[in-house]
Amino acid sequence: MYIALPPFEEFVAGTVVKEEPTSEGTTTKRKRKPHILALIQENCTGCAGSPACVDYCPVEDCMYWVTDTDNPPFGRIEVDPLLCIGCKLCTSKGPDGAFLEGCPWDAIEMVPLADFEAAYGVLPY
Ligand code: SF4
Ligand code: SF4
Repeated sequence: MYIALPPFEEFVAGTVVKEEPTSEGTTTKRKRKPHILALIQENCTGCAGSPACVDYCPVEDCMYWVTDTDNPPFGRIEVDPLLCIGCKLCTSKGPDGAFLEGCPWDAIEMVPLADFEAAYGVLPY
């Protein structure tokens, strides 16, 4: 089951609230839609406020913190679907599924673009 995301219009308008920590890196707009996108799963714990995934993401503000308003200061990480380049660095796995880097809790799924758009609608870019 996929988590709820803000409407794409809010990402385009820049009105999605992105709390710290956020990913740091390139600010160059991606040239095309990626073949796969990172999607945070329900089992994201937020790593108790110190998300292990964010430092791996090479795109500015692609991964960001969202406070759980029912249970602050707990929260989770989310991914901006208009910024993700599908690089898998947040969720890299070695041979036989051995953990190398990225999310240690298997809470990030790389979703094919067609499946993502079937669930959330067609990305504007
Ligand atoms: S996606 Fe994984 S590494 Fe990132 S905050 Fe959630 S549980 Fe932690
Ligand atoms: S796939 Fe790459 S760009 Fe997308 S959230 Fe993960 S690290 Fe960031």
